Formats: sequence, C-alpha cells, structure tokens
Amino acid sequence: MKLLRYLLFLGILVTGAVWLADHPGEVAVEWLQWRLETNVPVLLALLLLLAGGLFYSLRAVSAILRVPHHWRLRRREKGFQALTEGLAAVAGGQTRRAGKLARRAEKLLNSPHLTRLLSAQSATLQGDKEQMRAHFEAMRDNKATALAGLRGLLDLEEDYDKAIALAREARKLAPADEALAERLFALLVRRDLLAEAQDLVGDAQRHKAYGKQKASRRRALLLNEKAQQADGDEAFNFAKLAVSNDPTFADAALRLAGLMAARGQVRQAGAVLERCWRAQPLPAIANAFGALVEEPPLQKLRRMDRLASWHPDHWSTQAVMGELSLDAKLWGQARKYLTAAARRPTAGILSLLAKLEVAEYQNQQAAQKWLSTTPAADPDWRCGQCAGHLSGWHLFCPRCGALDSLTWTGDPIKHRSVKVGASPLPEPKTRRFGRRKSDRPTPPDSAPPGPRPAVPPNR
Ligand SMILES: [Zn+2]
Repeated sequence: MKLLRYLLFLGILVTGAVWLADHPGEVAVEWLQWRLETNVPVLLALLLLLAGGLFYSLRAVSAILRVPHHWRLRRREKGFQALTEGLAAVAGGQTRRAGKLARRAEKLLNSPHLTRLLSAQSATLQGDKEQMRAHFEAMRDNKATALAGLRGLLDLEEDYDKAIALAREARKLAPADEALAERLFALLVRRDLLAEAQDLVGDAQRHKAYGKQKASRRRALLLNEKAQQADGDEAFNFAKLAVSNDPTFADAALRLAGLMAARGQVRQAGAVLERCWRAQPLPAIANAFGALVEEPPLQKLRRMDRLASWHPDHWSTQAVMGELSLDAKLWGQARKYLTAAARRPTAGILSLLAKLEVAEYQNQQAAQKWLSTTPAADPDWRCGQCAGHLSGWHLFCPRCGALDSLTWTGDPIKHRSVKVGASPLPEPKTRRFGRRKSDRPTPPDSAPPGPRPAVPPNR
C-alpha cells in the first residue's frame, strides 16, 4: 500500500516535471529597482526550497524554546525516582541510602511538602530527633501532611500534657482513627483526666473509631478507676457501673463483689463473680466466690460445684476443686482433680498432690517424689505489647506502659454456647475430666510402695 502511494506520488512528480519542461513559461518580477527574470520551473523549485527552509527553521526554533520545559520534566522525573527509591530504602532500613536519596529528592523536586515525609523518615532511621522534630513541625503546617506530622511529633513527645495537646489536635483531623483515640484515651487516663476520657469514648464511638464492645470496655476501665479512687456509696456505684459495662472485667467484678459482700449482699456478689468466671475462669474469682460464705469444706465444695460446671475441663477448675476436695477429705475426687491439673504442675498443685499422698496413704516417699518434681510456672498475665509476664492484672503494663494490654496465660476457654444472663443454670457436671493423653500429668517415674492408690502419681 505504502509502495503504491510512493509510486503514484513519483508518477505525478515526473509527469509534472515533464509537463513543466514542455511548457517553460517566462516569469518576470519587478520590485523597487530590482528585476528578476526566470522561467516557471526554476521559480517553483525556489519556492519549494523556501517553504522547506521555513518549515525546518520553525521546527528548530520551537525545539529550542521547549528545551527548558523538557529539562524541568526530566528533573522532576529524576526527583520522583529518588523519592520512590528513598521510600523503599526507608522501608528496607537502609539508613545512609535513604538520607542520600532524601537530599537528592529535595534538591530535584524542590517541593518540600512532597519530600518532607521521606526526609522525616530518613531522620527517624538515623535517630536524629532534632531533624525529625523540624521535619514533623514543617509537615504539621501543611494541610496535606498535618496528620502525619502530628503523629510524628506525638511519638517524640515525652511530656504528658504536651502529648495530650498534640493528640487532641490530631484527633480533630482524624476523629475516626482508632489508634489515635486509644492514644489520647491512655494519655488522659494517665493524667487522671477521667471526665475528658469519658467524653472521648462517646465521641470515638460516634465516629466509629470504637466499636460497641471496645467502648464498653473503655468505659468499664474508667469506672473501675473511679471506683478505686472513691469510697462508700460512690465507689459502690462506680464499681456496679463498671461491671455492667463489662461483666467479664475481673478486676471490677472482684471489687464489686467485695463491696457487695461487705454490705451483706452475698447472693448478688456470687452472681457477679459467677458471670465473670463464665467468661474467664481465673482462680482469683473462684477463691473470692469460695470466701463469700464461712462454711464447712464439704458444703463449700457443693457450692463451688456451680462454678466448676461452667468449665469442668479447665485447669483453674481442676486446681480449685482439687484443693477443696482435699480440704473436704474426699481423697478420690481430690486425686482425680489434682492429677488432671498436674498437666500444668505448678508448685501449688505439686504440694497439694504431696499432701494428698500423705493424707490418704501416709506415703511420704510418693509425696517426696511430687515435691522433687520441677514445678511449672503459675499461669500469670502477659502483656500483648512487650510480652512481659506479670503476676497480676494492671491497667497500665508496668513494664512498657501499654493500656489494658494484659491477658491471662491460663488454659484457653472452651466456650460453651451459653448466653450471658441465661437461667436457670444447668446441673453441675463435675465428674468430667480431660481424658486425652496429653492431659496426663507428668509424675515421678517410679511407683510408690505401700497400698496402691486409686490413681497413682506415676501413671
Ligand atoms: Zn507491656
């Protein structure tokens, strides 16, 4: 097709040239005192040459005019490349490369709001706090980067009051941000600004920064703090509100149950503890439940059956019921519970098993074997932030300062489909034990002499 067009064009050209050569007309141009005489083909060739010259010189001029624009584009391209590579270097933790690329991007792009973030991150990698602060302050002044700047400044701030001011400012920009709401909440509780913290929970829930459950938990934490600081009726009311916001919050449930018991409301205190136990069977809850009433061991054991029925296979149930059965001199039941609990042979469980050997069979040797077993650690509280272990629950982790970060390290709960508040309670199922091989205790390695116990420690 191309060839055809070319041949056609060539044909017309040759025909035109031949025709012009056959009809060589004369042309005379007179202008001022100049006179130009020539024939038509020459004039046409001249005109053609002139048109071509004009075309190419115009193109050259326009190309020269576009040079600065091209140069700027190229520079910008290089700047963005440096910016991209710099961000990648930050992500890869390449401190020196990130710094070099940040400076290059700054120079090439000459657009601080674009490169500020990279420069700030590069300074963060280098640990240059002064530079970080300078970059974050500059970012704070630009609408597009204000939030990132405020967050950066908040991370650097060591003064609680200044941090609160920064967090308030940041939250205005991102009211739906959960992490920011949590940050401000923790700071406010730290500074004991509980009223503002309470308002914050409502506001965060309205803006969907907190879900319903989170908001309830945060309210319960606040109310529990208030209950701790108050006394008399005020403390009682705060504790009650805390538990109604989060019935699974053990610290609040224990506080409320204690206050109720002191008022003689033993039945209500029992209900509060039971509800909490259902969510999380902590030995402390069972102990408080047991201590509600002064009664003979056998009667206490019967009352505790109610708690045991919620989590019959849980370590806490086995440990608590084993001890109570031992107190009630129900050797067989005590042995069943304690050997099941010995899959986590804490010092307490081992000492109870030794006590049982002596009480039931006067077998000092078997008792000694239990006592010489290396004990396992007691279940404790573990921080989700710093992974530190603590013996009790704290609102703020004493090791890293994180808010409400501790979870109990006891057995996971096998949830049964029971609705909170459901009644009546099912009949206690206290005779169920873990029967899996892995649940077996790790007892001493030889059989004790003397009468054979029902479940000897070496089985
Ligand atoms: Zn911690």
